[in-house]
Amino acid sequence: MKITLDEAAKMVADAQTIILTSHIRPDGDSIGSTLGLMHWLRAQGKDARVLIDDELPRIFNILPGIETIERPAEGKRYAADLLIVCDVELKRTGEVLPAVDAVHVLNIDHHVTNDEEAEYLYLNPDYAATCEIMHDLILAMGGTFSLDVATCLYTGMATDTGFFRFSNTTPHTMRAAADLIEVGVKPNIISVAMELKSYDEVMAQVRAIRHLEMFHDGRVAAVFIDEEKAKEVTTTEGLLDALRVIEGTQVVFFMKWLEKDTYRVSMRSKGTNVSRIAQVFDGGGHIRAAGCTIHAPFDEAKQKILMAIGEELNR
Ligand code: 5GP
Ligand code: MN
Repeated sequence: MKITLDEAAKMVADAQTIILTSHIRPDGDSIGSTLGLMHWLRAQGKDARVLIDDELPRIFNILPGIETIERPAEGKRYAADLLIVCDVELKRTGEVLPAVDAVHVLNIDHHVTNDEEAEYLYLNPDYAATCEIMHDLILAMGGTFSLDVATCLYTGMATDTGFFRFSNTTPHTMRAAADLIEVGVKPNIISVAMELKSYDEVMAQVRAIRHLEMFHDGRVAAVFIDEEKAKEVTTTEGLLDALRVIEGTQVVFFMKWLEKDTYRVSMRSKGTNVSRIAQVFDGGGHIRAAGCTIHAPFDEAKQKILMAIGEELNR
């Protein structure tokens, strides 16, 4: 059931024991929104913790409280008055959902493709980041921002907007970020940390770019990473940022081997609705940034995604 921000605020205020979670393959917005709200809830005397069923990329080690995030332990049960699922629909939270016994489940998200399966859902697809919603939610509860809260929320806003450059950046995004800078967040410290790469990661990106292919009259740039190539292309972090600058491209993406007959696709566009393409394969996201997993042998998966993109380009 869809609810308003004030109704969501009341649900959060009424709960004492709260578990926060987000998607697997966590990013700045998923970690920032859960951890940011956790800090605020703890400051109100609530029993709040974050469970995420995945490893956390080390760039997020600068976030205060990152060490408190737990991965659900096998067989362990977690009880709560309220489970808050942030920045994702329920089904992409890994093993968290089955491990949590919560009286109520509240989903807070900004993805237009949200499946609306949650018991309660506050969805704002006009916001660039779930952290932007958290900013409003805390204000709706009469709160203010500590530096810990602000650091987490700023990080999510910055990463989901490409540091306030993407088309999802609005006056509200900038004002919300300004509130956080006002209490002491240092934009340069966050951006330096988020862009940090090891030598090996830079070399992996170089190797990935060598596999670049162009399709659909230069409107599509893609890197296909099969099982063999995946051994040397150990990270795809930042790869799409390198492809998107190619003149004439509308859609850039990579397709990477995950396991036998399973490929991970990540797409970015300059207006073409890639979330619609992702949904063909049961994925989702935003108009200009989306992802999905394709279950097929390599050649078939490659052909399927190129065809789906071609159809969307020619709509
Ligand atoms: P990324 O390419 O960075 O993994 O994801 C881009 C956007 O699409 C993010 O907002 C992410 O949450 C969303 N997304 C990526 N993969 C999936 C997927 O498999 N399912 C859904 N529903 N959303 C996805
Ligand atoms: Mn997000």
